[in-house]
Amino acid sequence: MTSVDRNQLLFDRAKLLIPGGVNSPVRAFRAVGGTPRFVQRAQGAYFWDANGQRYIDYIGSWGPMILGHGHPAVVEAVQKAVLEGFSYGAPTEREVELAEEIIKLVPSIDMVRLVSSGTEAGMSAIRLARGATGRKKIIKFEGCYHGHADALLVKAGSGLATFGNPTSAGVPPEVVQHTIVLEYNNVEQLEAAFVEHGPEVACLMIEPIAGNMNFVRASVPFMKRCRELCTQHGALLAFDEVMTGFRVALGGAQSVYAKLIPGFEPDMTVMGKVIGGGMPLAAFGAKRAVMEQLAPLGGVYQAGTLSGNPVATACGLATLREIQKPGFYENLSATTRSLVDGLTAAAHAEGVTMCGDSQGGMFGFFLFDELPQNYAKVMTTDGPTFNQLFHGLLDRGVYIAPALYEAGFVSAAHTAQDIADTVAAAREVFKGLPR
Ligand SMILES: *Cc1c(COP(=O)(O)O)cnc(C)c1O
Repeated sequence: MTSVDRNQLLFDRAKLLIPGGVNSPVRAFRAVGGTPRFVQRAQGAYFWDANGQRYIDYIGSWGPMILGHGHPAVVEAVQKAVLEGFSYGAPTEREVELAEEIIKLVPSIDMVRLVSSGTEAGMSAIRLARGATGRKKIIKFEGCYHGHADALLVKAGSGLATFGNPTSAGVPPEVVQHTIVLEYNNVEQLEAAFVEHGPEVACLMIEPIAGNMNFVRASVPFMKRCRELCTQHGALLAFDEVMTGFRVALGGAQSVYAKLIPGFEPDMTVMGKVIGGGMPLAAFGAKRAVMEQLAPLGGVYQAGTLSGNPVATACGLATLREIQKPGFYENLSATTRSLVDGLTAAAHAEGVTMCGDSQGGMFGFFLFDELPQNYAKVMTTDGPTFNQLFHGLLDRGVYIAPALYEAGFVSAAHTAQDIADTVAAAREVFKGLPR
């Protein structure tokens, strides 16, 4: 530590100029308190803050950095692309190549459109679902995040299967009146909602492995019912794989469920994060008949000045090529699993209640003795204890999400030594936690 805290100086400057000092709320450390770390640079599994302090990074830009920071093949592809121009507003070969890669890796997708953020992809997918079905209503689940489009900033109203209430000022209730919010993993509520609204439902959007309420899997019976009810009522099953796509497996969470439910496929897929490899890039895709409803072929309008950006597509393509190398997901999964197992064992050795789960390079852990199944349960986490854990790890050079409702991410650059160092740091912190 230098004598001057440059993170604090930068935060003080930032707060005068940028609301809360940050350009995305969770970065501000409001939930956990303290001063956000201003990142100076990153390499591999680490980043360095404005004081020159190194951290083992378990956020990885909230998922995109699956190869770790500054992977040589990705850096080379980006440098080469930059020399050829930043943006043209005209089609390029690289967009075709990226579309080919995505469609090859995700069999439920026949056609794809590239956009610049997960929010944009989710919002556009909803418009397309409504346009393609001629219906108004959408179903989402409490605790799933699909970006900050108005119609999706909704929490459950009071009572069963009622329409939601806006979770943000500036969203009029009329704008969310067609959004039905249900409890995750609750088959009864799901069935009741389709009984009441089935013929009006355009799509059901879900995070198949939810990473915005820490880490909660959709149970197999629940996912099976989602699929059956959508098919039965002519609604589109839209998988929000912005976080899970190319993260939990090469084929995304849908490939995980396809192994558990024979013939399983979603109708639409929303992607982001890993497909851009750290550049602003996202996508949504579906079967041909649905995608052909989009402008310029169909009546559903959607557009973007920077969509399919040549530098972003170079970064995404290079990333997708690396993750297809043999053994990539086997190694990543094993490293991630060893972290979760190590943390849980260290907690138990110190008498701290903990459990955890992971899939591919995504993980979550809880101060519970069994894995939670929905948002309400996740939110019963003891906040002060989580905050003590967060700051204890941060002080020891380990950076996890500064909020208890966020998943964590391991990259291919994390070594067995990084995991061992993390577990050792955690064990020291666990000694001081209430039990
Ligand atoms: C991150 C995320 C989004 C939003 O993506 P942005 O690029 O931040 O707009 C949407 N859905 C899920 C599941 C996400 O994790």
